[in-house]
Amino acid sequence: MSINTLHRPSRLSVKEAAVIAGRHPDTIREACRLDLLHGKQRVKGGTWQIMPDCLEAWQDNEPCEHRTPKKNVTPISKKRSA
Ligand SMILES: [Zn+2]
Repeated sequence: MSINTLHRPSRLSVKEAAVIAGRHPDTIREACRLDLLHGKQRVKGGTWQIMPDCLEAWQDNEPCEHRTPKKNVTPISKKRSA
């Protein structure tokens, strides 16, 4: 399941991510759209590009390192009443 570290691409297309994750490309696209999977689009509505680390984190059902919640930060939901 892990991605070959020797020839690790910096960005995966939806198709490549789907093959690696063993999912349907639509599933990958939907996950990106729903912000479950950290993907990038050069233009809005364009092709998604996914970093292997983000894909792996998504497969593990964890936030990728780019969006790991920072410590010592008050949850937003609790801030409002102040
Ligand atoms: Zn990420």
